[in-house]
Amino acid sequence: MISVQQATEIIHQVPFVPATEKIPLANTTGRVLAEKIVADRDLPPFHRATMDGIAIAFDEYLSGRREFKVGGTQAAGQAQQSLPKNGCIEIMTGAILPEGSDTVVRYEDVTIQNDVAIINVAIEKNQSVHFKGIDAREAEVLLEPGSMISSAEVALLASVGKNEVLVFAVNTIAIVSTGDELVPIDTTPLTWQIRRSNGVALASALNAMNINSNLFHLPDEPATLEKELKSIVAHHDIVILSGGVSKGKFDYVPGILEKLGIEKVFHQVKQRPGKPLWFGRNKSKTVFALPGNPVSTFLCFHKYIKPWIEAGLGVIQNKTAVQLASDITFKPDLTYFLQVKIDRGEGKFSAIPDAGKGSGDFANLRNVDGFIELPSERSEFKKGELFSFISFR
Ligand code: AMP
Ligand code: MG
Repeated sequence: MISVQQATEIIHQVPFVPATEKIPLANTTGRVLAEKIVADRDLPPFHRATMDGIAIAFDEYLSGRREFKVGGTQAAGQAQQSLPKNGCIEIMTGAILPEGSDTVVRYEDVTIQNDVAIINVAIEKNQSVHFKGIDAREAEVLLEPGSMISSAEVALLASVGKNEVLVFAVNTIAIVSTGDELVPIDTTPLTWQIRRSNGVALASALNAMNINSNLFHLPDEPATLEKELKSIVAHHDIVILSGGVSKGKFDYVPGILEKLGIEKVFHQVKQRPGKPLWFGRNKSKTVFALPGNPVSTFLCFHKYIKPWIEAGLGVIQNKTAVQLASDITFKPDLTYFLQVKIDRGEGKFSAIPDAGKGSGDFANLRNVDGFIELPSERSEFKKGELFSFISFR
């Protein structure tokens, strides 16, 4: 059996290579940028006024002048005017500075009478001017591939004229639940049946990453499994299965995947939950077969699959460590992914354990924010120690 670290390294050995697509700017929120974005001109592109007031040449002020004849008005969106000799021009926020001016005095600090502006306060050179190129220079890289696009990036993309944006597109992923006990969620199960919740949970987690998925359900029956899986694998580059990978009499998934030419890379990881995790690939396909217990499925997705996809997209993955809020003992020689609720009090994140009642107890997930990773080589974990945190919220 391999360790969590080995499993992680093996999965990441072959990177996920996403396709790209061009989409309208308005639809890019939450997507990952696949191109380098360069400033097409200086930012700001011209010296702009940041206040409504008058534009003057500071040297005039320095030489003692306090009264400036108003020679016109420079509005935002108007072509650049010229400063009259010894005079000023009224200027509005966002307007280009008139030729010959370098300083703006806001209306609050001047009195204008009979077309003469009188400056009432001490002023400084270049005040209330946002100089050309001060934020970014033409040809400077504004955004790198892998940047997650939020409304802040949308504004930047718009400002450089990106009407359409190249983003990463993930080929649709297949999600396959297996198990004879599983019924559709819109039916009333018989006593010994349960509604299949893993499939939609995985689809929703992928959805949050803007990745589409197709949902399937297959019975614990080898011939059907083989036939259906063959077609699913043929149509998808990435397949995530849940259920049927343990040691049960009806756990046919690993054998059938190998029969279909998906080479087993590993089966079983020294971890709880999710020990039966199976991972395989061939030249073009990657298959994660997760144990069906809902907490195991959930953990395996967030620990292994999501980071692998994010790495392929070039998304920077922030590693978070949180402080254990109470002592924990865990004896087995396994990495323990302990469910925790995060308390954000007093500026530090503290992780309050709430283990739940095992990997079948997915109801407990509603009480927690994620898992902390407690290494296998130890069995005592002390309050106040830092452990890495996998958030699912
Ligand atoms: P398995 O990994 O197939 O042995 O399943 C382990 C446990 O997880 C069983 O109690 C299953 O009923 C449950 N399970 C498997 N798949 C799902 C699913 N899609 N939704 C909810 N529970 C599941
Ligand atoms: Mg099963």
